[in-house]
Amino acid sequence: MTREVSQPRKTILSTLARWVDAGASQAEAPSHADAVDWLRVVPFVLMHVACFGVLFVGWSPVAVSVAVALYAARMFAITGFYHRYFSHRAFRTSRAVQFAFACLGASAVQRGPLWWAAHHRDHHRHSDTPEDSHSPGQLGFWRSHMGWFLTRRNFGIRWKAIPDWAAYPELRFLDRFDTVVPVILAASLYGLGEVLASVAPSWGTSGPQMLIWGFFVSTVVLYHITFSVNSVAHVLGRREFETRDDSRNNGLVALLTFGEGWHNNHHRFPAAVRQGIRWWELDLTFYVLWMMEKVGLVSDLKPLPAPPVIREARERHSQSPAETVPDQGASR
Ligand SMILES: [Zn+2]
Ligand SMILES: [Zn+2]
Repeated sequence: MTREVSQPRKTILSTLARWVDAGASQAEAPSHADAVDWLRVVPFVLMHVACFGVLFVGWSPVAVSVAVALYAARMFAITGFYHRYFSHRAFRTSRAVQFAFACLGASAVQRGPLWWAAHHRDHHRHSDTPEDSHSPGQLGFWRSHMGWFLTRRNFGIRWKAIPDWAAYPELRFLDRFDTVVPVILAASLYGLGEVLASVAPSWGTSGPQMLIWGFFVSTVVLYHITFSVNSVAHVLGRREFETRDDSRNNGLVALLTFGEGWHNNHHRFPAAVRQGIRWWELDLTFYVLWMMEKVGLVSDLKPLPAPPVIREARERHSQSPAETVPDQGASR
């Protein structure tokens, strides 16, 4: 006996499958590609709702410190590796270090490194044109901040943009089962809180408290600060270089994202590992990568062009702000 599965039920089932297996096939019609996939949004919304758990679990210095440390470590993995390494190949490293930071990046719950890098390369290719997935000028602020990755169109991995990474099975695994690493992190934090509650009760923490602060609060703050590079740094800030897009240099975004807020610099010189150009343009990600190079963990950091080239590009903008000068091009 065969049983017909109705279309809405098929869609719900395939969406639920993709909560745990991003490689599961999609049932929806392409005509709805730009609609927000509300069922898939549920886990994203729950991440936010869970933050209200602080009202029930309270806080402790150790839980808040773990949240801050995980924010910093995972922000670096996103900016240094998801962005500057996987998207732009701005330096080289070993396969082991590549995988270690891919895992740390995956724990930030922003999908796998391949999905992230492919979309980001497309952003550089089509910045602020109708083909850009997250242009605030084209799609509005909130769509560029977080609506874009909740649509069906942007769910899949754009393999064409990342032919250089497709050959790594361990990276493909992280992308396909992109909830595995976050679940391990969440479970470990709960376990850590429970252990501390029994061996150091004076620290005032618990499994639920460590889970809420270390996983949910830290991740949600990390979300919105990361997303602000796509939204805020294409709307608010100074334009120092003429580029084909609306990118801006925003000091506050740069401070919170460890250097990514020098976004106009980055769109002008996307191949360079360094995004802060002037001495006061704080770029923590670059400083950490520079130290990692000194101890042999990474190599071949791609430099900015020579100072006269930068000066010339800057002067061209100040003399003729309306003139558009092509930036360094696509993704690398
Ligand atoms: Zn941009
Ligand atoms: Zn970039």
